[in-house]
Amino acid sequence: MNKVVYMDYAATTYVKPEVLEEMMPYFTEKFGNPSSFYSISRDTKMAIDQGRDRVAKALGCDSSEVYFTGGGSEADNWALKGIAFAHKNKGNHIITTKIEHHAVLHACEYLEKHGFEVTYLDVDSEGFINLEELKNAITDKTILVSIMFANNEIGTIQPIKEIGQICKERKVLFHTDAVQAIGNVHINVKELNIDLLSLAGHKIYGPKGIGALYIRKGVRIDNLVHGGGQERARRAGTENVPAIVGLGKAIELATENIDAHAERLEKLRDKLIDGLLQVPYSRLNGPRGKNRLAGNANIIFEFIEGESILLMLDFEGVCASSGSACTSGSLDPSHVLLAIGLPHEIAHGSLRLSLGDGTTEEDIDYVINVVPPIIQRLRDMSPLWEDHLKKGDK
Ligand SMILES: *Cc1c(COP(=O)(O)O)cnc(C)c1O
Repeated sequence: MNKVVYMDYAATTYVKPEVLEEMMPYFTEKFGNPSSFYSISRDTKMAIDQGRDRVAKALGCDSSEVYFTGGGSEADNWALKGIAFAHKNKGNHIITTKIEHHAVLHACEYLEKHGFEVTYLDVDSEGFINLEELKNAITDKTILVSIMFANNEIGTIQPIKEIGQICKERKVLFHTDAVQAIGNVHINVKELNIDLLSLAGHKIYGPKGIGALYIRKGVRIDNLVHGGGQERARRAGTENVPAIVGLGKAIELATENIDAHAERLEKLRDKLIDGLLQVPYSRLNGPRGKNRLAGNANIIFEFIEGESILLMLDFEGVCASSGSACTSGSLDPSHVLLAIGLPHEIAHGSLRLSLGDGTTEEDIDYVINVVPPIIQRLRDMSPLWEDHLKKGDK
């Protein structure tokens, strides 16, 4: 029997059957262009409105503050570039962190080539920013602070309310990439003083290629796509109606039951972490407890390469990730692991296991059983391990 244990929910999720079911009619009989005037178009227009209402309800904002995008990366790019160019007369300084998703980091690098200055805040060994450093980094040229809600690699949940408060007091706009936080953490953009927030469908059991950007009413931002009047003319193009319907249903399901969902995953996560830390020379990346994403485990196994662990786990039917899925093809260690202070050679040996709705206790037991012999086999082949043993002999 070919067993498959999927433990890469932070990379993407399956689409829930209830979500798919609501989407289906919008591929076939309910296909009208929402901008047209006949009655099949009224159906699609209403479906978009309902999707927007559901996203707004999940975030605690008004529907008119929700803009659909082609995913999380697009929402991040829009927030960064749209704010930068709309506010360049006020200032050219942006603050972010060293552990953002590449959608934010690479957008910042692009902006640096266009006259903007970016401060990349350090994080501590568990991935938290320092609020005093943030305060000190803000100048009268600062127009935007972009700090992710929860980290996709090591699960660190930032003190978002405090960050929002600082930005509000200093009259600087605050964007947060909440792609990983939605469905795991209670979010109310008004209470948290968030001006812009990015989210994506495929991390919360919705479809890929759809996301949203919350833009607080009154915030000036450049339009993303010029064309027709869709998304209040800010992101033109005929709407992806089935995906919008799917995102709406998915976010409704994800935010209905946050506490029960998080509690279940936290138990499984902690069992997994404790089980894997039995392996000698292993350690946990990111914090323990409530400030860690419920489904995230990230473990370093010294003296070996994360990539080879993945290969051997794949033989055992386990889908996992090392560092970041975006680094495939490159041998650079994850920027997040380097930012929490791991040396290059150790950062290479990381394994991220991310749990989700389909994860069972049996899955956890299975992984706790298959990982240690894999680590042992890889260490037996590793020159670094051999060196280590020789040193130990002296
Ligand atoms: C997945 C992810 C993104 C990118 O979202 P896409 O929908 O894949 O473009 C951005 N930020 C974080 C934190 C993510 O985990």
